[in-house]
Amino acid sequence: MLQNPKSQIPNPKTDDDVACVDVAGPSPRVVSGHSHTVSHRPVKRLWDLGFGIWDFSRVMGQLAWRMYRSSEPRLLWKIAYNFGFKGMLSVQRFKARLKEGKTFPPFLYISITNGCNLRCQGCWVDVDRPQAVIKFADMDRLLRNAKRHGNSFFGILGGEPFLHPELLRILRAHTDCYFQIFTNGHYITDSVAADLRRVGNATPLISIEGSEAVSDVRRGRKGVLGRTLAGLEASLRHRLITGVATSVCQSNFDDLVRESWIDRLLELGVHYTWFHTYRPVGPSPNPDLALRPDQVLQLRRFVLDMRNRKPIGIVDAYYDDEGQALCPAATGISHHISPFGDVEPCPIVQFATETIHDNGGDIFQTMTGSRLLEDFRKTAAKATRGCIVLERPDLLREVVTRHGARDTTLRRTALPELAAMSSRPSQHNPGHELPEENWAYRFAKKNWFFGFGAYT
Ligand code: SF4
Repeated sequence: MLQNPKSQIPNPKTDDDVACVDVAGPSPRVVSGHSHTVSHRPVKRLWDLGFGIWDFSRVMGQLAWRMYRSSEPRLLWKIAYNFGFKGMLSVQRFKARLKEGKTFPPFLYISITNGCNLRCQGCWVDVDRPQAVIKFADMDRLLRNAKRHGNSFFGILGGEPFLHPELLRILRAHTDCYFQIFTNGHYITDSVAADLRRVGNATPLISIEGSEAVSDVRRGRKGVLGRTLAGLEASLRHRLITGVATSVCQSNFDDLVRESWIDRLLELGVHYTWFHTYRPVGPSPNPDLALRPDQVLQLRRFVLDMRNRKPIGIVDAYYDDEGQALCPAATGISHHISPFGDVEPCPIVQFATETIHDNGGDIFQTMTGSRLLEDFRKTAAKATRGCIVLERPDLLREVVTRHGARDTTLRRTALPELAAMSSRPSQHNPGHELPEENWAYRFAKKNWFFGFGAYT
């Protein structure tokens, strides 16, 4: 069902026995497994290249047309300029800083509140505790400081970000930036979507975790999917550039890692989708939900195939252009701010030695000077190209202990939770790398999303 058609074709790079390929049909087809003296390999490569360019152009053309038809020029300009162009420049500045030995991420992810109306399985945020928010003045100072160093894109997380009473005010104060809001969609009413359209610099990334029954279990409430779809429809009705995110796990793999799900998203009018993989961390981890390595590989193959064939953007954040695994926090391209202002390596590493209030609120100085972040990056990159939290929780524990890092949770159990974790596989699967096939993604990743020397 999920097989990439190309996987049916023996790989000429590795299968020396295959030399005779029929190039008369619409796609190359193996007609013999025997060796021949005349190799048709160059012809096949040219043929593949021709079809690759044709497929890519057709799919990207369709995607551009969909975006044009379903959004509006001002919103398209904002994402193209604030996120695309300025985001690319911010990565260039990041690369230049790395040469000077300074690591300040071009992409900051900021959890602006711990409050949430849902109770998802495996959530690591203290949603049951009193609600905290990052105040407008602190966000404003943080964003201004990051902008001075070339940043223009920010991920906004929670809890549920729309529970922050001043979210719209934050967006309005920084119209030269672009924001991706990770949300369950429940608070995106017509009036909120109209506000988002007016300000124009944000894309809702709405999480859908499966069918109605699966969503109710995964998200700990009844009727979750219906309210999420209502928020999705409001976003699309107001012509917002809208994404759908899924944390892929055992209970939704069969429903969502399939072509019909991508077709459903296209029918709905969704512009892009992001597949995360479920990570069993936090106070109530559920290891039974985690994917097996063969499923992670199947998901990766599915993403590559859909990128070639469907006019929808597909985001993943754990592989470079060669298909080698990476960790965004280990490479330094991204770090996280907690709802309490703690400066953390990534959202699931709930330890810090600094806050956004240190150094007079100069986040650049705080992050570039953080010994904890530096040690985390080095230790994580040395241990694995995958996720250190999953693969080597013991090493992570050593790092946080070495620096006397604070537990940044309200429940104050992050260290025992880490101690209770055992090593498990992550996205790193040596020998099974699947390089990007679509050259637009390959080009983008080769230049702006790779290991940045962390793994050398
Ligand atoms: S440590 Fe793990 S969860 Fe955090 S950014 Fe790296 S790979 Fe992702």
